[in-house]
Amino acid sequence: MKFGGTSVGDLDRIRVVARKVKAEQAKGRRVAVVVSAMSGVTNQMVKYCYDLNPEADSCEYDAVVASGEQVTSGLLAIALGAIGVKARSFQGWQIPLFTDESHGCAAIDRVEGAALLESLNHGVVPVIAGFQGVDSHGRIATLGRGGSDTSAVALAAAIRADQCDIYTDVDGIYTTDPRIVKRAKRLERITYEEMLELASVGAKVLQTRSVGLAMREKVNVRVLSSFEETDDTSGTVVVDEDDGMEKELVAGIAYSQDDAKISIRNLPDEPGIAAKIFAPLSAAGINVDMIVQSIGVDRSTNMTFTVSKGHEQKACALLEEMRSEIRFGELTTSHDVVKISVVGVGMRSNAGVAATMFRTLAERGINIQVISTSEIKISVLIDAEYTELAMRALHTAYGLDGKKEETTHE
Ligand code: ADP
Ligand code: ASP
Ligand code: MG
Repeated sequence: MKFGGTSVGDLDRIRVVARKVKAEQAKGRRVAVVVSAMSGVTNQMVKYCYDLNPEADSCEYDAVVASGEQVTSGLLAIALGAIGVKARSFQGWQIPLFTDESHGCAAIDRVEGAALLESLNHGVVPVIAGFQGVDSHGRIATLGRGGSDTSAVALAAAIRADQCDIYTDVDGIYTTDPRIVKRAKRLERITYEEMLELASVGAKVLQTRSVGLAMREKVNVRVLSSFEETDDTSGTVVVDEDDGMEKELVAGIAYSQDDAKISIRNLPDEPGIAAKIFAPLSAAGINVDMIVQSIGVDRSTNMTFTVSKGHEQKACALLEEMRSEIRFGELTTSHDVVKISVVGVGMRSNAGVAATMFRTLAERGINIQVISTSEIKISVLIDAEYTELAMRALHTAYGLDGKKEETTHE
């Protein structure tokens, strides 16, 4: 059972979670629990670090931001003890959950299941601090924002859990973010592949890595509410794609405001120009997402692409350094953009999805700045001002609207 930040947001919430754990145990199940920091705490810690130094050392950043989960794991173990459930807290290094050295967004190398299994065998509920592990030098490392989902899946795999239940502040995975589109519909199930795409384009209900890991390790993941009474049929299950499955054209829609748009004008229209621009960016670890190059006129062309907002400054600085080598005219950036993506395995065998998207946006007078596609996804970059309008219009256009007006816990 994994509980996110809002689910453990105050002491009353922690008491509720303790009772849920006790109820699960009463069904004769052995339960390991993973917790996030209380809501808002990680943001505060991140701010402390960057207020002191925008270039804060990433190992120390991790030492600070991992603390939120340490607190919650101890508090939940205390709350469980108070209602007669034997429990103890585990920090990442005590499991241990080993990570690589990329502090701030570390990848999991290996998880030892033995200590947790021993605790379970003694009837003691392990309450594990999510989001954190330890690198090969013994230093605390964190798994990137939203990383407790990945902790939960990795631990479930390590102890071969039958089920990995992700409890959160909505009652499942929806066709789109129910906080933006009130008519969003809860899905009974979704494929790993679709959820992976949706997460990677902004649906933060599960961290992207957690879905990839669950797919590889065959962990049964379910998303459900910690605010409601639930049973074994509640929530949304993430499943393998199978032939018998009814293939919705579009499973879901997601948005991301994490991207910045960079445009370079008046570039020489010659072979190798894309390599000159993108090779140094990739060497600096900057991921480029969407790209569009205009047709050259008079041996000159324009290139527009997106990077995460966090990488924008570094990307521009690198490009400026190479201005004379690349020989470009103007470099401009924009923050006021949103990437909207529609995802569905049904797209593989149906050509109409892109056309519907473009027509729907055109009818609302929304200009598309960049387009990118993959096998089961289409993304467009538009003015951020139109986020909600575009999301709602697309949700209706793909026939995803449900009847419920209010579906979420507020
Ligand atoms: P937690 O703190 O439990 O990890 P998160 O805030 O990380 O919770 O994720 C849950 C949130 O994800 C929801 O409150 C919802 O606003 C958002 N969300 C975005 N897309 C979706 C979606 N397709 N289905 C459900 N929730 C979504
Ligand atoms: N507390 C961490 C965060 O806010 C990890 C998580 O909640 O999953 O990003
Ligand atoms: Mg989360």
